[in-house]
Amino acid sequence: MKKSKILKFVLGSSVGLVTMFLVVLIPLLMVLDFFGANITDDYVDNNADYSDKYKEAVNMALKNNKGYVPLNRILYFYLEDESLSFYQIYVDNLDKDTNKMLPISEVCELKKYKNFDGCKDYELGNQVDSEQNKPFLPPIDFHKITVTSFFMEERVVFGESDVHGGWDLATSNNTPVKAVCDGKITKVSFPYKENKTNTSGGGGNQIYLECEVDEDITYTVLYAHLYPNSAKVEEGKTVKAGDELAGVGTTGYSTGPHLHYQVELNGTGVDGMSLIDFSNDD
Ligand SMILES: [Zn+2]
Repeated sequence: MKKSKILKFVLGSSVGLVTMFLVVLIPLLMVLDFFGANITDDYVDNNADYSDKYKEAVNMALKNNKGYVPLNRILYFYLEDESLSFYQIYVDNLDKDTNKMLPISEVCELKKYKNFDGCKDYELGNQVDSEQNKPFLPPIDFHKITVTSFFMEERVVFGESDVHGGWDLATSNNTPVKAVCDGKITKVSFPYKENKTNTSGGGGNQIYLECEVDEDITYTVLYAHLYPNSAKVEEGKTVKAGDELAGVGTTGYSTGPHLHYQVELNGTGVDGMSLIDFSNDD
């Protein structure tokens, strides 16, 4: 190879490499959390350390008719004082009348949080929810379930690492699962005739419900691992919020009877629990 050709090759390839680094690798490394644990609006990277304590708090809250507070909000306060209890922070972050999560500014008015660094510059936290839209009803009776996995939980299932795309709500077989909205059933898939685990069976028996909550906001709700032959609805039919759709089972990639409740907006996973209206749940 001639000198000029070599130079061209190196230059050409390093431009290519730099571009690849900027365009592909950096976002990828960020997604993979190469730059260290960080809390985003959506979820907490490396959350396995907190998952058990968090689920305990969520389960206690649901049993006590409380609303929903995501893990990132709990950690906003907990990481400044690790002697605090997750459940206490959880409750402090809810409005007692509406059961909606309070803006951080309001939680910071409580004496115990006032002097936290996060309360001096909470604007930077980017978690001040001025208006929370809660278009959904619960997909199941929350008094009958135990949360075994939350949205974006980093966990190990059947020996495999995985970031969970939905909520796992464990309960007994055939517990009714319900429409979260007035909407349209877009898919009813019940190929599994036996209520048992099949590690290559994905979501098992499933129902998809489309919820058009606004002109330009349509959520897709997935109910997975359903009991064989339990579908009470048909593809293409409309349903009312609260209508029974099917029963809980353990078909597909499942370790026991539970509802896998998953919500997507334009193909991107969103936290289905944050959309549920807990206000009349007394
Ligand atoms: Zn699941």
